[in-house]
Amino acid sequence: MRLYPILAISTLVLTGVPAAALAQQPPTRAIVNVTGQLYRAQNNNHYTVFLVTPEGVIMSDPINRDFGRWLKAEIATRFKVPVRYVLYTHRDWDHASGGVVFADTAEFVGHRNMLTALAPPAGNPPLTAAAEKMDANRNGLVERSEASADIGDRFAQFDYNGDGTVSGAEIARGGIGDVYAPTTTYVDRHTVTLAGKQVTMIHLGTAHADDSSVLYFPAERAVFSADILQVRRLPGAVAPTIGAWIEALSRINALDFEYALTGHALAGTKKDAAESLRYLQELSSGVAAGVAAGRSLPEIQKTLTLDTFKGFERWDTVRNDHIAAVYATLRGTSPSPGTR
Ligand SMILES: [Zn+2]
Repeated sequence: MRLYPILAISTLVLTGVPAAALAQQPPTRAIVNVTGQLYRAQNNNHYTVFLVTPEGVIMSDPINRDFGRWLKAEIATRFKVPVRYVLYTHRDWDHASGGVVFADTAEFVGHRNMLTALAPPAGNPPLTAAAEKMDANRNGLVERSEASADIGDRFAQFDYNGDGTVSGAEIARGGIGDVYAPTTTYVDRHTVTLAGKQVTMIHLGTAHADDSSVLYFPAERAVFSADILQVRRLPGAVAPTIGAWIEALSRINALDFEYALTGHALAGTKKDAAESLRYLQELSSGVAAGVAAGRSLPEIQKTLTLDTFKGFERWDTVRNDHIAAVYATLRGTSPSPGTR
């Protein structure tokens, strides 16, 4: 059952046009009612949700400043109430940036680990392989003039100390300089109540990021999770471990819900969430069986086709990497780097 019409997404988004060209395209934005006073809002291929109450709005990820300004104006016009809460799914820049737009009226809630992630970058890790290629003068730092790709696009967000160079530590922290820090943090679960409406945030462990929360709307029987819950779409990477992913999806599926709302692409139902968990379980048990039978990684990749998930987005591009990641975990070899 498809809950929503598939909204027109510019084909340019899907065909890998360079970021500079994409920036010229007006973003695809929409607000769709899910049920009751719960809405899903779109900015290209990123989504957030918000719940309207007579005393204000409880929303999730702000996504970015430009979208945040648009959403704030839409909410003010349509519902005539302020945004009272911003509940973060996790700290990644592409979901969590731009919250400052709502700082005049909102309380910001995130998992405690989000504060650690936003803190000054620690240690002195080496540049990543990609950043090393940018480092033309070989001084171990990426100057603004050397920066390209994501570091070039969002240099100021990487340059935590504003010194005009990006270090290995600043790269490890990520381009999260425009993420407005949570003013309230929690550890296991946290419930926000406004005008009698409730939203509960539940920590999902270490899958994808160690500060991931699922938002649970009990009266609406809905959940929202960015990057962990997916509908007919496989995870980008199964990191840090397959066990962490199974645990996270199990925590979501233990909730009583009907609407599975995601941070990217399609939304769906509890059945879709169960299918995502089944993929992880079959991936895990399939690789374990191969290892137990003494098969090599290429042999397992050849035989463990996970065909019943063929219609899922990214099946053809990520399946072999997922098998390799689980194989590495089971063999006790280090997982591939940079697999968030
Ligand atoms: Zn993420």
